[in-house]
Parts: sequence; C-alpha cells; structure tokens
Amino acid sequence: MIDTHCHLDFLSDPHEALLDAQAAGIHRVVVPSVEVSNFSRVRALATANPQVYYCLGLHPCVVLGSAEDDLRRLKEELAVSLADPKFLGVGEIGLDHYLPGLDRMAMEQVFHAQLRLARDFDLPVVLHVRRAQDLVLKGLRRFGIQHGIAHAFNGSHSQAQAFLKQGFHLGFGGTLTYSGSRQIRRLAVDLPLESIVLETDSPDIAPSWLSRGESNTPKQIRGIAGVLAELRGVPISEIEAVTSRAAAAALSRLPAEAL
Ligand SMILES: [Zn+2]
Repeated sequence: MIDTHCHLDFLSDPHEALLDAQAAGIHRVVVPSVEVSNFSRVRALATANPQVYYCLGLHPCVVLGSAEDDLRRLKEELAVSLADPKFLGVGEIGLDHYLPGLDRMAMEQVFHAQLRLARDFDLPVVLHVRRAQDLVLKGLRRFGIQHGIAHAFNGSHSQAQAFLKQGFHLGFGGTLTYSGSRQIRRLAVDLPLESIVLETDSPDIAPSWLSRGESNTPKQIRGIAGVLAELRGVPISEIEAVTSRAAAAALSRLPAEAL
C-alpha cells in the first residue's frame, strides 16, 4: 500500500515511522515539500530510503514574502529533479481560504506560477485546497493540468466530480475515520473507488483511534483503508489494490511494479 501524502520530515523519528510502515505493509510513502528550505530534506529522505518518493513545491500557507526567489529556486530544482526516479511532481501547492490573514492575491500568483511550471515540465501536481475548490479548478483548467491529487479532499459532490473530470484523484485520510465527517464519508462511498487515494497527512490529521499526543505516522494507512472498506462494504484487499493502482495513475512517475 501507499501513503500518498506524508510530511515525513516533520515526524520526530522518520526512520522508525518507515520501519513501522514497512511492517504494516505500506511500501511506498510520498513526501511533499512545503518551502524551499525543506527541498533538500525531502530529497535526502527519498535518496536514503527505497520506499520514499518526493514532490517539490511551495505550500500556500507557508510561502509568501520573497516568492520570486522561491519560484526561481523551485524552477531550478524541478529541472534538476527530472532525472531523479524518486521525484514525482509539483507539490504541495494550492489555495487556502480557510486560514485567516493570508494574502489571497499573492497566494494565487504563487499557485499559478507553479501550475505553469507543472505544465512546462509536464508533471502531476499535489494540491492543498481549503474553501477554494472552484478557484483551484479554474487554475487547473487555465493551465491544462490533468494529473494529480487533491489532497485531504473536503469539497462537495459536484466539486469532486469536477476534479475527476479534470483527470484528478482525490486524497482521503484521517478525517474519514471520524463518524462526524458525514459529507466526506458520503463522498468516499459514492465516488468510484478508482478515483480515491489514501493518505495520512502525518503528522497532521490523526485518525480517530489515536489518543491525544500519540503521533500520526504512515502505518495508519492500513486502519484508514479498513474504515473505507467497512464504509463501502468491500474487502480491504480490494481497497488496497484499487487505491494503490489509483496512486500510480495519479502520480505517473511512480513505478507501477513497485506497488
Ligand atoms: Zn500536506
């Protein structure tokens, strides 16, 4: 199985988290970056660990300020990374209209600049989208981006359909494990399983069974898959097989045989 979204470099012990994941049958972990300063950390983790892959991008909640320098660096790093088989795409990028106090104009400019890079380098994108689904979709259409993942998906049914129509896959994780997440649970049951990828977003969005203070790590993918299997009324083996194939379809540089 694969954790399609894990901030491994923010975990207290990435090495132990990977060993635990391996033992639980999670053989692939995709690590997005959030700012220029962690590009080398995510790449180093991928280089040192056969099961780790990475993306490079500027997160909408992290980056602002000297975006021009950051975008120039990102462009250089993307060009260099094309030769790296562990490199998968541009991410995590997007729009966040949930957190207050962020400069939405600047955020959108940085997002569009990165969509342009994804288009020019022909790379999939990993998206962070909060309360801005329609604007993100507009950007994807404008730049003709047709592959990637809308991570921690939390939009409506019709927005979900619009992402699928655009060629995107939708990421589901810890939020799915809470019985109160009615809208997200309904979506996860109604959508074609082929359109769903699993993620922990660790260390964020801990599943319901972790106690406060217990850290969220990639091994939780198995429990998340179990919840999805129960909600959809299918065997967990089917969830594993189909969502792993979906991840390879969404992130086209991911070697299929490695799943
Ligand atoms: Zn993230």
